[in-house]
Amino acid sequence: MLDAPSNRPALPPEISRRRTFAIISHPDAGKTTLTEKFLLYGGAIQMAGQVRAKGEARRTRSDFMKMEQDRGISVSASAMSFDYREFRFNLVDTPGHSDFSEDTYRTLTAVDAAVMVIDGAKGVESQTRKLFEVCRLRDLPILTFCNKMDRESRDTFEIIDEIQEMLAIHVTPASWPIGVGREFLGCYDMLRNRLELMDRADRNKVAESIKIEGLDDPKLAKHVPQDLREKLIEEVEMAKELLPALDPQAVLEGHMTPIWFGSAINSFGVKELMDGIATYGPEPQIQAAEPRQIAPEEPTVAGFVFKVQANMDPKHRDRVAFVRLASGHFQRGMKLTHVRSKKPITVSSPVLFLAADRELAEEAWAGDIIGIPNHGQLRIGDTLTEGEALKVTGIPSFAPELLKNCRAGDPMKAKHLDKALMQFAEEGAAKVFKPMVGSGFIVGVVGALQFEVLASRIELEYGLPVRFEPSQFTSARWVHGEKTAVESFVQKNKQHMATDNDGDVVYMTRLQWDIDRVVRDHPELTLSATKEMQ
Ligand code: GDP
Repeated sequence: MLDAPSNRPALPPEISRRRTFAIISHPDAGKTTLTEKFLLYGGAIQMAGQVRAKGEARRTRSDFMKMEQDRGISVSASAMSFDYREFRFNLVDTPGHSDFSEDTYRTLTAVDAAVMVIDGAKGVESQTRKLFEVCRLRDLPILTFCNKMDRESRDTFEIIDEIQEMLAIHVTPASWPIGVGREFLGCYDMLRNRLELMDRADRNKVAESIKIEGLDDPKLAKHVPQDLREKLIEEVEMAKELLPALDPQAVLEGHMTPIWFGSAINSFGVKELMDGIATYGPEPQIQAAEPRQIAPEEPTVAGFVFKVQANMDPKHRDRVAFVRLASGHFQRGMKLTHVRSKKPITVSSPVLFLAADRELAEEAWAGDIIGIPNHGQLRIGDTLTEGEALKVTGIPSFAPELLKNCRAGDPMKAKHLDKALMQFAEEGAAKVFKPMVGSGFIVGVVGALQFEVLASRIELEYGLPVRFEPSQFTSARWVHGEKTAVESFVQKNKQHMATDNDGDVVYMTRLQWDIDRVVRDHPELTLSATKEMQ
């Protein structure tokens, strides 16, 4: 196989064997099934079906809430590590529900590549497209898996055209399907010039495919009926003529995506996709940071928090901070500097998520994801180093699209609400704004379902019933500018002003017209819908 392209010095073997990626897809395309098969091939689980509980829990709202409450499931499924061949794969889960797009965005800052799963009958769907756009913002390499080829699917050229057109990316076939639906027999591996035929006998087994070398192998006639054979030869010729050949550099830069066809449920095409991740993955990449970027091969450890999750036990306020290691060789017990507070943290019980289990991480390398239990010191966007004052950049916070007033159901307990909301804000589950005039809080989220999840968690974790009520505002914008200019603006617009959970100044309104007016009348200020996490 080709070596992954690189214009950088060779990485230490422990780092270069790491592949850290996420799966993006529209619900139902087969992400859970594919994850299960990855783990199966990775030898991490004995039987498929273990990831299923989570996939199904997502289907209904009440189950979703239950899953959120049952933190154990979602914590361990947030990152999964397993070995495949000589590689260590770190699969980071993207939240499936479209309401959690901000969380998803931040998750994608922690990976070096994404696998885009599409349903062969449905092609590019709305959620695929949104997630793809997020990957594009970061020029992430994308590998595509066209799933459910065992069902009636669209014509192969049509699927490829649709991806090229809707997503404006070059598509190169890594494999070519032979027949579809009931007639689906397997794929011709365009990269290795051989046939892999599907064994439908046992779905939960690591499938053994029948290997045929080349399209002129006499064995082809034995396994593939004449009509399909002729169609395959003709299509592969056309594909070679009409579609771009695989250019590993273009894949690395995010301009081209190789596509594999298969059927996750039949374990078919999964191994080829995994080989593809191993080859084009790519290895851990340089991380943007200030005042300088961080290279994975640097000997000292640096990492950043991209996700914080409340722990399994609601009685303890433990959280797990998910840290992507950007460089170095981490060892348990290490003392790292928490750059924001400049305080040292001894990381004595880091967690590695090996498939369904959690294990103490004795060591980890650049590219790995470790969980660090803490009591709230670690926040999204925080950088940990061995002492250097580096700040990882590119982890934004988005202006919420929905705002509501939050009130304690029991006025006697109102002061606890403050604390509860701040903790959720730190977890990244909501934005909390304190208006400069009047009392109470305005809570902002990206998707409506988050209000329900929040209310249920505040009640469960703090014993505090809350109500969310309509707010007079619908938009929030961070105000940036010279300190005096911001202060003078605040004085004149007090009714519209609030501070967010970091104390930053926010302008709130219900009219886009107001925002346009401020932009026009105050060239000395910038109103922005995103801000870098502190
Ligand atoms: P997710 O929502 O993307 O995680 O999708 P799931 O993995 O839960 O799959 C959605 C549905 O499609 C489930 O009923 C799966 O059994 C089914 N499915 C997944 N992969 C395949 C496949 O290759 N062929 C067929 N026919 N069904 C599949």
